[in-house]
Amino acid sequence: MRKKIVAGNWKMNMGLKEGIALFSEISELVKAEVKGDQGVIVCPPFIHISSLVQSLTVNDKLAVGAQNCHQSDSGAFTGEVSASMLSSAGAAYVIIGHSERRLYFSESNETLAQKLDAVLKNNLIPIFCIGETLEQRNDGSYFDVIKSQLAEAAFHLNEADFSKLVIAYEPVWAIGTGLTASPEQAQEIHAYIRKLVAEKYNSNLANDLTILYGGSCNPKNASELFAQPDIDGGLIGGASLKARDFVDIIKALDR
Ligand code: PEP
Repeated sequence: MRKKIVAGNWKMNMGLKEGIALFSEISELVKAEVKGDQGVIVCPPFIHISSLVQSLTVNDKLAVGAQNCHQSDSGAFTGEVSASMLSSAGAAYVIIGHSERRLYFSESNETLAQKLDAVLKNNLIPIFCIGETLEQRNDGSYFDVIKSQLAEAAFHLNEADFSKLVIAYEPVWAIGTGLTASPEQAQEIHAYIRKLVAEKYNSNLANDLTILYGGSCNPKNASELFAQPDIDGGLIGGASLKARDFVDIIKALDR
C-alpha cells in the first residue's frame, strides 16, 4: 500500500517563535480534524527543527523534516548542515533537489546523488524533487528532463534504498506562481515516473512508491489533484504557512 503524505516546505520563512506557534496550531487542527492515516510532514528552516521535534507528542501524526543537507557527514563546510546532524536533532525527512536549490545553489544531479546517499545512510527519508522549467514544458523536452533527473540522481540506488524514497513532481513553472499543473498534466508525469521506476526496478516497487505533486497546490485544487490515481499527496510551499489552508489540503486526502 502506498503511503499518502502531505509535506509543508516553509522555505526561509518564520522566526522561531512564530514557527513554534504555527506548528502547534497545525498539530491541534490535525488532531481534531484529520481522519485518515496520511503522513503529515513539516519542513521548517534548520534552526526550528529541534524545537518542533521536542514539541511532538506520542501518536502525533506530524513528523519534522529539513529542506536540504550537505552530502558529507562532517568537516570544513562553513554554514552547512549534515544529514547526521539532522538525524541527531530528530528530523525524519529531508527535501533533496528542490528547484530553488538547483537554481540558486547550482545543485547538479551528481551532487544530488551524493545527498541522497547521505540521507539514506543516516536513516532519514529523502523527499526527492524533480520537475521541468516552463521552457522545457513548452519545447516538449519535459519527459527527457524528468527521466534524466531521476536516472542521474537516483537510479544508482539499489532496490531497497530506492524504495525508501518519496518523489515529488514539482513543475518549476508552477512553484510559487499561482499556476498549477492541471490534474491531467500532473497525472501524466506521475504515471510516467512510475513507468520509469518499473522499468529500472520492478512494478511492485513502482506501485508502492509515494509520488507527491507540488506547485501552487491550495485548498481549492488539492482534492482534484489528489483524486488522480498516481498522485499520493502534495509538497506544499506557500499554503503550508497558513495552518487552516495546510490542514484543509491534508484533509483533501481523507476523501
Ligand atoms: C514548493 O516550494 O515546494 C512549492 C510547491 O511551493 P508552492 O506551493 O508555493 O508553489
